[in-house]
Amino acid sequence: MKPIFRLKNLNFTYNEGKTNEYQALVNVSLEIFPEEFVILYGPSGCGKSTLLNVIAGLEVPAPGTAFVYDQDISEMTKREQVEYHRKTVGMVYQSYNLITSLSVLDNVVLPQIFLNRRKRKRDQVGAELLERFGIRKQADKLPSELSGGQQQRIGIARCIINNPDIILADEPVGNLDSVSAKNVLGIFKDLNEREKKTIVLVTHNPEYLSYGDRIFYLKDGIIIKEEINKNKNIEEKKEEEKTKAPTNELQNLMRTYQGLSPEQINILIMPYKAKMFTHHFITNRNAEETKIFEDLMQRYLMESVGQDDFLDILNRPYTEGGVGFDVRTARKISSRVEGIMQMSKFVYQERRQSKNEQGVHEIFPVEEKAVILTKYLLEVCFADYKTKPNEEEVKRLEKAVFERLSEKISKPEMYEIIDRPFKEEGVGLNAKTARSVSEEVELTLILGFGVSQNRKFLDKKREQMYSALDNKQQDATS
Ligand code: ADP
Ligand code: MG
Repeated sequence: MKPIFRLKNLNFTYNEGKTNEYQALVNVSLEIFPEEFVILYGPSGCGKSTLLNVIAGLEVPAPGTAFVYDQDISEMTKREQVEYHRKTVGMVYQSYNLITSLSVLDNVVLPQIFLNRRKRKRDQVGAELLERFGIRKQADKLPSELSGGQQQRIGIARCIINNPDIILADEPVGNLDSVSAKNVLGIFKDLNEREKKTIVLVTHNPEYLSYGDRIFYLKDGIIIKEEINKNKNIEEKKEEEKTKAPTNELQNLMRTYQGLSPEQINILIMPYKAKMFTHHFITNRNAEETKIFEDLMQRYLMESVGQDDFLDILNRPYTEGGVGFDVRTARKISSRVEGIMQMSKFVYQERRQSKNEQGVHEIFPVEEKAVILTKYLLEVCFADYKTKPNEEEVKRLEKAVFERLSEKISKPEMYEIIDRPFKEEGVGLNAKTARSVSEEVELTLILGFGVSQNRKFLDKKREQMYSALDNKQQDATS
């Protein structure tokens, strides 16, 4: 039998050439055959996720080669890579990676939208999967209304809706209690045995090794042992350990979503945006409150919750499903977010709102945008200051903002200029204010990231996207 994956003398180094260089994979060679259930096992930090990401084409090994069927994964074009993710492999993550503002069903059918499947057809296939995984009744709920185990079943349904041959799962039960974990592992087992899917599952928990046909043991980036499991599935013991969800980085996400349109990317990176916003405003929140806050923020950024409801939920006690801020803090957050949203729309608009004498919407110069954004920053970030910055300080701040908006400098560079003493040509703000100014500018930029300017996607909401796609489909078929 020909292997699906062939990895040969594969190495992978993070931060190559820098002082924090770290070799995460060392001469890894392995083959994975059709219909196998393979487990990559080892302690945290041993390189399991890195290895899975190389197989998924998200990290490029050097030196070394990784082939899927007869194709070199690292030589795929962007288009091939997108196809690979749409059709050949499906991924399941520890933290589910669901879009918290979309319903359970919409999450499941999301990969089909990118294939331009008709809505009725996709919803039907999606509903069948939900039925199969025992969550059909929850189809119209938001993911956050479901338990962890149920959320992971949404993740699996989404992963298999395009019917990939291969499933790559990174600690898929790492966040689940033992009963839910067993249930979810049972689904993988079933997909492997009944649907003949090839499964590569990453775990650090020895209790689950019985599910694999073959286990690769990793340590410090090296495969130290390969074991064939003769007693497959004899016992599935309890898992007690819970691990924290890993955080996603924008760049990793962007790499994952290469080749998609700005609108699609915008929806997919919305949780990331919400997270950045939430962290900016966080003070002494517990994990559950933070989660509620994050979900709420996402819905607000997508404008599926209005300002009144946003305020109301911010202020509502945690025991009643709110975030539990006092009224003053809730108002402050709401107006700050509103401010950034407006600033972001402003900064990303290409032309002026009003026409000039010739009836033309002129280009809005970045210099002018920088002046207005700076004025806004002075209002929100210096509210507690007794003395306002002097004229020259403001001028320097405007210049730094201008350079950041026109992408002449990076985020840390802008921070450095704002923080640097006035005598040394900096703006000379204290460290705390410099931080808050620079974060505020970044949020303004992040929020507009991936949003198509002409189509004002955020205003249109997802229903319109669906119907647009359906119309297009109908146009194409009629
Ligand atoms: P595992 O999934 O087994 O926990 P990872 O593959 O995530 O391990 O990481 C392997 C090693 O590489 C770890 O020591 C980790 O700290 C390091 N590492 C992972 N991602 C990065 C990164 N983006 N930059 C630098 N080092 C990283
Ligand atoms: Mg990992």
